Amino acid sequence: MKAVLDHIGIAVKDLSAALAFYRDALGLEVEAPEEVTSQRVRAHFVPVGESKLELLEATASESAIARYVDKRGPGLHHITLRVDDIDAAVAQLRSRGIRMIDEQPRPGAEGSTIAFVHPSSAHGVLIELKQPAIANPSAIRNPPSAISRFTLGELELISLSDGFLRMDGGWMFGIVPKPEWSVAAPADDRNRVTLGMRPLIVRGARTMIIDAGLGRKGDAAFDDTYGVDHRYDLDRALADARLSPEDIDIVLASHLHFDHAGGFTVRDASGRLRPRFPRAQYIVRRGEWEDATHVHSQNAARYQADNYKPLAEAGVLQLVDDDVTIMPGVKVKRTGGHSTHHQVVMIESGGKSAAFAADLIPTRAHVTESWIPALDLYPMDTLAAKRAFNEDAVAREVLVFFYHDPSVAAGYIREDNGNRRVVPALS
Ligand SMILES: [Zn+2]
Ligand SMILES: [Zn+2]
Repeated sequence: MKAVLDHIGIAVKDLSAALAFYRDALGLEVEAPEEVTSQRVRAHFVPVGESKLELLEATASESAIARYVDKRGPGLHHITLRVDDIDAAVAQLRSRGIRMIDEQPRPGAEGSTIAFVHPSSAHGVLIELKQPAIANPSAIRNPPSAISRFTLGELELISLSDGFLRMDGGWMFGIVPKPEWSVAAPADDRNRVTLGMRPLIVRGARTMIIDAGLGRKGDAAFDDTYGVDHRYDLDRALADARLSPEDIDIVLASHLHFDHAGGFTVRDASGRLRPRFPRAQYIVRRGEWEDATHVHSQNAARYQADNYKPLAEAGVLQLVDDDVTIMPGVKVKRTGGHSTHHQVVMIESGGKSAAFAADLIPTRAHVTESWIPALDLYPMDTLAAKRAFNEDAVAREVLVFFYHDPSVAAGYIREDNGNRRVVPALS
């Protein structure tokens, strides 16, 4: 495994005395402190080249850092190594009999995933492994290829990417207080969190794409409002998957919000709107179509007729009424909640199951039942649908695709002691 020194944690008893040394005597710069509420710790990072020192100050007597300092006095507390693939790293260590504090990686600060190695296996040092989230994709100079391929029985599933956008954190997390959601999804200076957009290709009897991202019809003001990052977009993703828009037979909509249906149409050289996938039938649930074409004040901001009206005009629109099979192995299932006729897509082949969760569980963080976007029209319907979806996904080991997760395309939902979490699936 490749590991890079991320930071060295130092437990501090008297912060001002510590600052007198690290900041004043050594002349190092100290960043604004970060509060880790769950650990009752305040962390002061001190950049030193590529790595950092982390001065850890307890904010309550029951804090682990307070207990550590009481027992051993201030000093070196842990070393954090950054790895690219924490699941593989933990598996490798466990296969060699290394004693882990965390047998499974778990969520850490700033959307990272972490796991601690027991000091008894690390020669007296507490080692933390950390896989950072792509919390700030614009900081990445070359956005990575975002294609992930999975085989499900006879079907091939390819998760694509249409880049990233940003939405208000309050919109995305509803009743969850910011100190809690901002750990899973750090907010920018405009309180926005970064979301991916991950259309899914299903290749079997026919080639289908489920949802198609934001598309390119927004103007500069729109792109600024939503922090649109299109350096890696659906055109590039399709090319990386060796597909062209002409290869798509079916476009299936989970719902018609602009971040899912924006890529359904394009403007041609003459400025006319036309279907982006020239050979495809576009399949939309009738109730969703009715809502999108008769908006009200509570949902109007999410629907833009340019994304779907041209489909009807071009004669490529097919409306379906119920939970029907779209092609062999692929069935839609209405959840409601987010929009009245929002649907997820259930995929089955060779005894294996996958699901496209759309905005029922937009990111891994939303797997927790009460984490429901304020945007949802009927949150109690979302709650009921999510509970049923989660129970089924846990029981049947469903490979779940997360449309908006900024860093993970798909994973398995696991349950320990009533808590649900997502184990990322590697393609
Ligand atoms: Zn939506
Ligand atoms: Zn969405």
